[in-house]
Amino acid sequence: MAKTIIVSNRLPISLRHRNGKFEFKPSAGGLATGLDSIYKSGENIWIGWPGNTVDDAEQRAEIILELHELKMAPVFLSKKDVEQFYEGFSNETLWPAFHYFTQYMVYNPDHWEAYVRVNQKFCDAIVKKADPDDTIWVHDYQLMLLPQMLREILPDATIAFFQHIPFPSYEIIRMIPWRRELLEGVCGADLIGFHTYDDMRHFLSAVGRITGMSGESGYIQAENRIINVDSFPMGIDYHKFAKQAKSRKTQNIVKDFREKVGDQTLLLTIDRLDYSKGIPQRIHVFDQLLKQHKELRGKVSMIMIVVPSRDRVQSYKELKEEIDLLVGRINSEYSTLDWVPVHYFYRSFPFEELSAFYSMSDIALVTPLRDGMNLVCKEFVASKNDEKGVLILSEMAGASKELQDAILVNPNDRQGVVDAIYQALSMSEEEQKLRISTMQESLKKYDVFQWVKVFMDRIEHVKAKQAELT
Ligand code: UDP
Repeated sequence: MAKTIIVSNRLPISLRHRNGKFEFKPSAGGLATGLDSIYKSGENIWIGWPGNTVDDAEQRAEIILELHELKMAPVFLSKKDVEQFYEGFSNETLWPAFHYFTQYMVYNPDHWEAYVRVNQKFCDAIVKKADPDDTIWVHDYQLMLLPQMLREILPDATIAFFQHIPFPSYEIIRMIPWRRELLEGVCGADLIGFHTYDDMRHFLSAVGRITGMSGESGYIQAENRIINVDSFPMGIDYHKFAKQAKSRKTQNIVKDFREKVGDQTLLLTIDRLDYSKGIPQRIHVFDQLLKQHKELRGKVSMIMIVVPSRDRVQSYKELKEEIDLLVGRINSEYSTLDWVPVHYFYRSFPFEELSAFYSMSDIALVTPLRDGMNLVCKEFVASKNDEKGVLILSEMAGASKELQDAILVNPNDRQGVVDAIYQALSMSEEEQKLRISTMQESLKKYDVFQWVKVFMDRIEHVKAKQAELT
């Protein structure tokens, strides 16, 4: 029987080196949870990089065996691969381009070569495991060349690709010297998914203009088959967040945290360190709020969690320094002995504490300058068991297309965001409940498990349609 192979740059585990031995730590991320039921059943498998470099052949053999037990297979990357393919082309060319930060784009042919080389490494690893009629679901922008590489070796396989980050306008894509190769790479798939309708539209337009293949109403006509392109907004494991927020453990933490911060109104912001998240801009907004509404000083605090990320890339190092400076400035300007404007944490938190932050905060301020989806805003809404709370959400986040009952803002409009916070602070409990409960209904229905099901069903549908046409 045909099996399903999931492929992503990172496996849903982390490999840690401790006392000369390797330890595996499973990832509890949304994608891993959603795909759990797929890769753990039957002969299915997940292929990807375990997140650490391993050069020793004996250690590699050991890791292969251990991962086999977990239904995974590793692709080993060298230090140079990580530097040039991952930190280089993926995070210094594609990431800034796809988030509209063209000023950070690096055009380095060595990085491009590494990107091709590593996509080929993934292809080789998959071909070793795949049968000709298997289904292969490739995830994200690090592996855009992989669908076509696989297609050449496995012409009858069912190949799907999902991009978790935005897909920008043709005007941006055309700036990348290797744009044609990237688009043709993705078009090796039978089904191509994005989070939003706009991403999909941009992709179809870029494919048409750059490769000349015609695409209409979600279908691209390739040489010998049709390719379906559509939007599939990814959800969260709703019940996990709702249940955790209710749990005694989390509620005890809430009680403890509340005793420490007092009864102020809390604005919550949680992001990975990334320039696409608009973190400095948000501190400026809070500063402006405190300037314009002096009566709020001492009454409102911001809890700002920044999760360390990509700290070897120069633009991320600079961003961290900018945030440190701005937080220092705002706190030194307004703090009193019994109040701090910004509680700033540069680290990640265990799930129960994260849940406590979601549960205890009055307002979530989610204002990325650009975001493929954004799960933090969905997790906040799911954690509001009493339906009290207000979500302020950037129009530039994919999630804004679904969460229309948030207060939607343009993150570049500083005064607009200040006004949105003021509106949130004065929103009646009745309105809060109405908005939160409406958003909860839709998040419950379109959770991550539904996302996986809809995508997998569509793969079958596309194959059936292709068969009909031949
Ligand atoms: N997160 C976490 N630990 C933390 C803070 C956040 O695991 O201390 C998680 C959070 O629950 C969310 C993810 O990080 O699922 C961030 O996802 P999002 O889509 O919002 O942004 P991304 O980092 O993927 O750009």
